[in-house]
Amino acid sequence: MKELLHETARRASAYLENLSKRTVAPGPAAVAGLEAFAGPLPEHGIDPMEVLALLDEAGSPATVASAGPRYFGFVVGGALPAAVSANWLASVWDQNAGLEVVSPVGAFLEKVVLDWLIDLFALPGGTGGGLVTGATMANFSGLAAARNAVLSKAGWNVESRGLFGAPPITVIVGEEVHASLLKALSMLGLGRDRVVRVPVDPQGRILADRLPRIEGPTIVCIQAGNVNSGAFDPASPICEAALAADAWVHADAAFGMWAAASPTHRHLWHGFERANSWATDAHKWLNVPYDCGLVFCREPQFLAASMSASADYLIELGRREPSHFTPEMSRRARAMEVWAALRSLGRLGVARLVEQNCGQARRFAAALTAAGHTVHNDVVLNQVVVSFGDNERTAAVIQAIQEDGTCWCGSTKWRGKSAMRISLSSWATTEEDVDQSIEAILQAAAAPVQRL
Ligand SMILES: *Cc1c(COP(=O)(O)O)cnc(C)c1O
Repeated sequence: MKELLHETARRASAYLENLSKRTVAPGPAAVAGLEAFAGPLPEHGIDPMEVLALLDEAGSPATVASAGPRYFGFVVGGALPAAVSANWLASVWDQNAGLEVVSPVGAFLEKVVLDWLIDLFALPGGTGGGLVTGATMANFSGLAAARNAVLSKAGWNVESRGLFGAPPITVIVGEEVHASLLKALSMLGLGRDRVVRVPVDPQGRILADRLPRIEGPTIVCIQAGNVNSGAFDPASPICEAALAADAWVHADAAFGMWAAASPTHRHLWHGFERANSWATDAHKWLNVPYDCGLVFCREPQFLAASMSASADYLIELGRREPSHFTPEMSRRARAMEVWAALRSLGRLGVARLVEQNCGQARRFAAALTAAGHTVHNDVVLNQVVVSFGDNERTAAVIQAIQEDGTCWCGSTKWRGKSAMRISLSSWATTEEDVDQSIEAILQAAAAPVQRL
């Protein structure tokens, strides 16, 4: 075991050292090399050292260098050194963090990180939460709590009786709602297509004065951090109207919640603290390894009521059991990496990480605008949405950037137009990385479009 772990460390360091030198996306040969893993399941096993060599030799070249400094696709984040080492140790521990009796350390770290984050985000006193795989499951969990709350007020126990015959729930979302929130609604039996969609402004923010009149069991979903523009819905007037009508407000804040940790960006979060539940990711902007998301609930009893399970062998001693707040029962001790990331950064380090990435987004936007390209969004956070002419030309430029490999940016549609998204969310990105990437993007945009 000892030799194997040393060899793992050696190979992992070599991988990291190469990360900023290689192309960000793997080439076609590397992807074709994945066939080395295929074939029928072998009859006989091999030495773990050989298994490791196979994984590294065929697998590492076919990774996307999203842990590196010049990956700006989606909102993916990197992995902080302290979080990577915590992740390794957590694997060696192999803890089941579902119950305190199975993992005192898992349960304890979870309580600590929830308290730290509730404090960091200035969420109301009494707020509780859980650690899940990502913001999709955090949205699912927050919306499950919402479903329980609005139906129990209407005299209906949804966990016991299901939705058949239940009073209908109105679900209100913005036109720019994230796909994962609709997926969560569909998994909860609330339907992705029966939602009431509220129109948005040119930045993708809900137009608060277009909210419908709220009556009966209602869940209002707001967003902090539009996946394209980074914009925040106007939480104050929406919460005002929703809470006056006894509706539940759920905030999808997958990456936008981290703005609350920065004194210079906290204003964006204004009003979101009035919501009833919040979903965020740690694997995006906190830069912990995949996978890790968090759900918070102002009145955690609703979350617990929606996630409860009991069996004779599950000892209940009245203490906080991690699995009482999440869809999963058995799960890994993912609080470990969150604790390590927060402990290594401190409150100021989290703020610096957010501000560093937001400054880099502004740097991209300024350089691309100065070169005559169209930046569509107000760069209020870490996102830049840019076009290079018509749809065809923009698509060609994005492809050229991805193939060049200096950096990686994805494509999107913004208000009907093709555009490129640049997302800044890695601790590893430096100003030099930004400048090197700007140069590659400007070069790709200056080249004549290849026409078939
Ligand atoms: C990424 C994202 C999600 C989904 O998060 P996962 O971690 O991929 O499950 C939800 N909402 C928004 C706004 C996001 O950016």
